[in-house]
Amino acid sequence: VAVKVVDETGSTNADLLAALPTLATPALLVARTQTAGRGRAGRSWLSTPGKSLTFSLAWKFDAPLQALVGLPLAVGVALAETLDMFNVNVRLKWPNDVLYEGKKLAGILIESAAAARPDQSWAVIGIGINMALNEELIARIDRPVANIPWLADLDQDMLMATLLNRLAEAMEQFGQEGLAAFVTRWNNLHAYAGKSVTIIDHGKTLHEGIAVGVDAIGRFLLDGAAGRIAIMAGDVSLRPS
Ligand code: ATP
Repeated sequence: VAVKVVDETGSTNADLLAALPTLATPALLVARTQTAGRGRAGRSWLSTPGKSLTFSLAWKFDAPLQALVGLPLAVGVALAETLDMFNVNVRLKWPNDVLYEGKKLAGILIESAAAARPDQSWAVIGIGINMALNEELIARIDRPVANIPWLADLDQDMLMATLLNRLAEAMEQFGQEGLAAFVTRWNNLHAYAGKSVTIIDHGKTLHEGIAVGVDAIGRFLLDGAAGRIAIMAGDVSLRPS
């Protein structure tokens, strides 16, 4: 993996997406500060210089684009298992968030792109982890934010190196076995198993029910009034209710 660290950039995902045609190997871009960090559907990921770990990993798969649908779940598992090694016990919120005590500690944004060959594809895996944000920034975020003060003392380079190893291992495994290797692990880390949740789309309630977990292709299973339904990630968000 080619590794680059920069002091500041707009978005590491945007930079790697733009660089894809020139990449021969997987690439990691770490930014000390992001000034235009991205979330899903045009939302923003905010960070405090030096108090957030923000990076993207570009990975080429020997599989067509549609095979990458469940990738955010596999990345979430790798991220949660790595944080656990540093005594940070997190849970996963479908489809792409990492929660600590019910609040968002880390976000995952995967943007995929076609490769030169139709049987290959690129994924740019963006991750942001709050390492101890300042209060002024937390106040600007409209959702509950997890901030663990002692993470300020953690060796960020050590965490990054461990994460890179685990993510590379997980991506190899996803490339060979697909989501199958991650479904049980994801369900064991599920933040809302057996809890009441609401699935919303731009503020509008789509479904309400009891959260079950994810199925073999990464859909979210929900027991509602009309029985069990399976929801595709798309653009929807989940809320505890
Ligand atoms: P949710 O369902 O909670 O809105 P999402 O998966 O739809 O999550 P993303 O698009 O992945 O959200 O992430 C962007 C959102 O994350 C922002 O709209 C904001 O609410 C929240 N956010 C932004 N920066 C941070 C941060 N540093 N820590 C925690 N949450 C953040």
